This record gives sequence, structure tokens and C-alpha cells, in this order.
Amino acid sequence: MADQAHTIHPVPEAFATGAHVDAARYAEMYQASIDDPDGFWGEQGKRLDWIKPYTKVQNTTFEFGKVDIRWYEDGVLNVAANCIDRHLATRAEQTAIIFEPDNPEDPAQHITYRELHEKVCRFANVLLAQGVMRGDRVVIYMPMIPEAAYAMLACARIGAIHSVVFAGFSPDALANRINDCGAKVVITADTAPRGGRKTALKSNADAALLHCSDKVRCLVVKHTGDQTTWIEGRDVDVKAQMASVAPDCPARPMNAEDPLFILYTSGSTGRPKGVVHSSGGYLVFAAMTHQYTFDYHDGDVFWCSADVGWVTGHSYIVYGPLANGATTLMFEGVPTYPDAGRFWAICDKHKVNQFYTAPTAIRALMGQGPEWVDKYDLSTLKLLGTVGEPINPEAWVWYDEHVGRGRCPIVDTWWQTETGGHMITPLPGAIPTKPGSATKPFFGVQPVILDPTDGHELTETATEGVLAIKDSWPGQMRTVWGDHERFQKTYFEQYKGYYFSGDGCRRDADGDYWITGRVDDVINVSGHRMGTAEVESALVAHAKVAEAAVVGYPHPVKGQGIYAYVTLMNGIDPSDSLKSELEGWVRTEIGPIAKPDLIQWAPGLPKTRSGKIMRRILRKIAENDYGALGDTSTLADPSVVDELIENRMNRG
Ligand code: ATP
Ligand code: MG
Repeated sequence: MADQAHTIHPVPEAFATGAHVDAARYAEMYQASIDDPDGFWGEQGKRLDWIKPYTKVQNTTFEFGKVDIRWYEDGVLNVAANCIDRHLATRAEQTAIIFEPDNPEDPAQHITYRELHEKVCRFANVLLAQGVMRGDRVVIYMPMIPEAAYAMLACARIGAIHSVVFAGFSPDALANRINDCGAKVVITADTAPRGGRKTALKSNADAALLHCSDKVRCLVVKHTGDQTTWIEGRDVDVKAQMASVAPDCPARPMNAEDPLFILYTSGSTGRPKGVVHSSGGYLVFAAMTHQYTFDYHDGDVFWCSADVGWVTGHSYIVYGPLANGATTLMFEGVPTYPDAGRFWAICDKHKVNQFYTAPTAIRALMGQGPEWVDKYDLSTLKLLGTVGEPINPEAWVWYDEHVGRGRCPIVDTWWQTETGGHMITPLPGAIPTKPGSATKPFFGVQPVILDPTDGHELTETATEGVLAIKDSWPGQMRTVWGDHERFQKTYFEQYKGYYFSGDGCRRDADGDYWITGRVDDVINVSGHRMGTAEVESALVAHAKVAEAAVVGYPHPVKGQGIYAYVTLMNGIDPSDSLKSELEGWVRTEIGPIAKPDLIQWAPGLPKTRSGKIMRRILRKIAENDYGALGDTSTLADPSVVDELIENRMNRG
């Protein structure tokens, strides 16, 4: 493992030649972005069409108590017009969205920019007819279908603020979000097929709305045509309405700082926060990162496999790609339906050029064996990306060999709901990669590593601590919806003058950044600080281990002990001898200090709906303090937790 992580993968020469940014250009542009942010971002802002051009660029302060973030503050634009209308002159007949349905037997759809324009205008007129006005909140609870993108863009067109809630969430979680943002309208669909099974979205929305104001309207997209209950006067048939309203709708001029959307964080670390993003700065940053990180060129087919319910779907399925006039793919289903080759079948079928997914998906597919990927023609792929968690080197190398076939640079992109777009990532034509490292900062981003004990900046190149950002960037969140104080307290209080990411980080001698996991996930064993991610990485490098989660627990001698939850590969039986084998394995991979004190076999791990392990729950169980688990509303499968409590190893 150690060897894999230290192998440097140079930029393929052919790639660098055709890339937007090579090594020299990266260095030059990065320097310019730091030396003269106003000049740099003033220039980048021109990638959008402004109704009234901005005269000011950056006006931001991170001073605790006065935190205020504004970019392009006197500019006026419309986000939907930037994603659609301005492309009509040159690419009206180009495909904007490729829709691949859950069932591979159903036909894919190709929606051109001209069609997108009409659909979004009609959808916007339906919203207007329901009395939705500028600044009103609209909750979108939809499957991964084109109508989800139409709904988002329709809101943007009329200046309403959308809040997309992932369709896997329960009625309770949906109700909380509707109420937190005070939505006037909920947009949903009748039912949502996913992996061959259907989720009853409309009836979930019905259940949620029992806990909301009776003024909230429910707009229903009849997607499958399945029967649902219908409340006259409250429920609206979107497709029927779309057919009867006008096919055009003017794009409302909006201020750059008007909120575009609210998105609740995934809740890995606590109660979800309603992250607010702006119109102008957000779109500049989403478009720019999409173009450079993925080295997107005109005519490429771009596929981000995230759900639109996550920020990744916002920035890299909808806003970034469409602002760039790209062809973006939307997939309704799951990676393992009808079989574990589905992702690669889609890449083959639609001749995908850039593919972006999460380490959790790569690990799951890796566990199914390489034959599922090896049989497809993946020759159109030029670049691969990952996001969401640190990627363990084995998964990186598998992705590189089996999916990229050794030809495609891999961009490991570190960013957050809060950052709007990529913050630390290789630019594929410029920066050599190392499996597991997010490498270098994007333009305008100044990462710093702070000493967690006193907050001072660690300036040596090779160092380790907590990751913070020194100055603002246009895609930064502006506030927590309705709670600016929580915004300041969460991100600006602990380390004064910086944006605090909550993540731990190491910088190596080459200046490359390695995210080590959440700061809460750093443990101290006999005086040695270590990221739990490192131990997890060692465990999953073992051939019999499918997944692992590691947390600390109070230990009478060491301060903290290492508690590992281990999921074995399909068909492998747990045994005491396997436990000793794993202990020995970690000992040789990392060192005696990292040997787990307790190993619990875990048939499943508690994950958020976006596939992230909720370590705070595992920590409670490991501490034998499972009475108060905190907010578990975003868990994908709550039953996993009971099983783990029942078989916990620490009963002291
Ligand atoms: P919450 O803030 O509610 O706890 P969350 O942090 O899981 O939820 P997101 O904004 O979706 O919500 O995730 C951002 C986090 O994901 C980062 O802070 C980091 O911990 C992790 N992450 C994202 N990309 C990477 C990456 N490439 N490498 C390592 N970690 C990553
Ligand atoms: Mg977070």
C-alpha cells in the first residue's frame, strides 16, 4: 500500500499538449490569482453573460463576528439564461442533457439546448402560475430525471431559491427541510424507479406535508404514471400544466449575491446545515472548475454519477456543465442494476469522455471483480474523477488500471457543500498525481495547515494538522439559512481569520495535500496522533476486507484505543484467526502503534444517503455509549445500527 501511495503518475504527455492548462500555465495563473485576486476573478467573471456588468469584484471578510462574503456584488445576471439562452445562437441543436433511465431496456433521451430552453420556460411559467415569486423557496424532491434539472433551472429563471432534497430521504427529513427553509412549494414525482425498485415519492411528500403549513403546494411530475393520492386544490399536475402555459418566460434579472439555492449538508457530523449559495460567484466558480479540473472541451460528453440531491450534482451535473455549454449525462439508476457492469455499460453506450464518481462506488464495484468492467469498450474515456472521501490507494489503482486502462489522469477532488466547487485537486494537464492525494489548490484557493492545539499556521512544506483556507473564493457559501451566527461559529470561530474546513490534512515534501479525514476522526494513541483513515486504508488493502471504519475509544493505558469495524468480502467467514491475521497485517502495513485493539465484524456500516460512513455513531457504540446517537435522520439504513450495538465489543 505504502508503495502505491508513493508512486507518482506523471501527466500523460499527449494529455498535457491538448489540455487547457499545462504545468507552466498553472503556476503562472495560480500566482496571478493570489497576487491580484480582483484582477484574476474580475477577468474570470467575464465567462458569464451579465445583464449589468459588475464594477466590484471581491468584498469579503473572515473576521469573526463580522463575517461577510460578497463577490461581483453590483453585477446583475440570470443563472438560467447563462446555462441555456446564451448557448442558443451557437448550439441550439446540441444535446444538453443525455438521460439514461433506470431500466436499460428503456430508451435514453437526448435533450437539446433548444428543448431545454422550452422545458425550463414552461416549468417556470407553471411556478409563476402557482404564485412563486422572487426569493420564495421551492423544495425539489425528485428522482434523477431531466425534470429535476428543469425544476432547478426554472427556479433560477424566476429568481426563486431552490432546495433539492435527495429522493432517498424519509418524510420526516423532507418535512424538516421544508419547514427550515419555509418553502412555498414542493416539487416531486409520482414514483421513482431505482435499481428496479420503486420509491413512492409522492406518498412520502404527502406524509411530510402533514407536518408543514397547509399553504404549501405540491407539484407532481407524473413520471411512471403510477397511481397516487391526489389532494384537489393542493396538488398540481406539472406535465399537464406545462402543456398549457406559454413556451417562453423572460429570465429575471438577479443580483449576483441573490441566493441561488439552499442545500442541506449530508449530516455526517451533526444536524444538517442549510448552506446558502449565491448566483454570480457560485456560477463563475462552478463553470471554471468544471472546465479546468475535468479539462472539458467542446463536444465532450461529461458524466458525474452523483445525485442532484448533493452539491456534486448541483455543480457538476447541472450548473457547471450547462454554463459551459456541455453535454451532461443524468443517470436515474444505481451502479449495480441490472448488474455490476452498469456504469461501464453506460460509458460505452454514450461514449462518455469524463467520468466522475465517489470512492465508495469504486470500492463496491471493485469487490465484484474486474470482469464487469473489462468487457466494455471504454476507449472514449479521457479522464476520471473522484469526490466525497479520501480514496484508498488500492481503489485508486484499480480505477486507473481497469477503468482508465492506464491512459486517463485521475482527479481526486477535495471540496465541500460549503465550498461550491473544487478546492484542492490536480489539474489533469498540469499536475502529476499520487494515489490518495488531492495534490494542489485550485486557482484562488489558499489552503493552510494549522496546529490543532493553538491554531498557528504550520509553514514548513511537509507538515500535518487541520485544513483551513486563508481567503475567500467566489464559490464560497454565504451563510447558513436563517442562522448567520451558526455560520460564523461553525467555520470562523475556532481558528480566527480563517475558514475552517473540519478536515485534517497532511502536506508532503512536494507540497501535495493529503486529506486525512475529519478532524474528529483523528485519534491519539499513546501520544501518537493518527488519522483513522490511514488505519482504514490499511484494512481495506487486505484481500478479504471489503470495507472498514475505524474510531477511537477511551483506553485506560493508551488514552485512546483503536476500534475497527470490518466488513468482509462476499463469501468470507469471520473467525478469530482472521482477526489475528488482520491485526498482524495492520502492524506490518503501518506499524505496531496502529494495531486495532478491538475488531468488530460488521455486516453493514451506518452510512449517510450519500454513502459516507457516519463515524460519530460508530464512535458512540465503541465508547459503549449508544443511548444518545444524535441526529440519525440522514442514515441510509437505520437497522444497521441495532445490529452493531447488539454485537459491540466494548462493554466496559
Ligand atoms: P456534514 O457537514 O453535514 O457533516 P458532509 O461533510 O459529509 O456533511 P459534504 O459537504 O457532502 O457533507 O462533504 C464534504 C466532506 O467530504 C469534506 O469535508 C471531506 O471530509 C470529504 N471529502 C470530500 N471530497 C474529498 C476528497 N477528495 N478527499 C477526502 N475527503 C473528501
Ligand atoms: Mg461537512
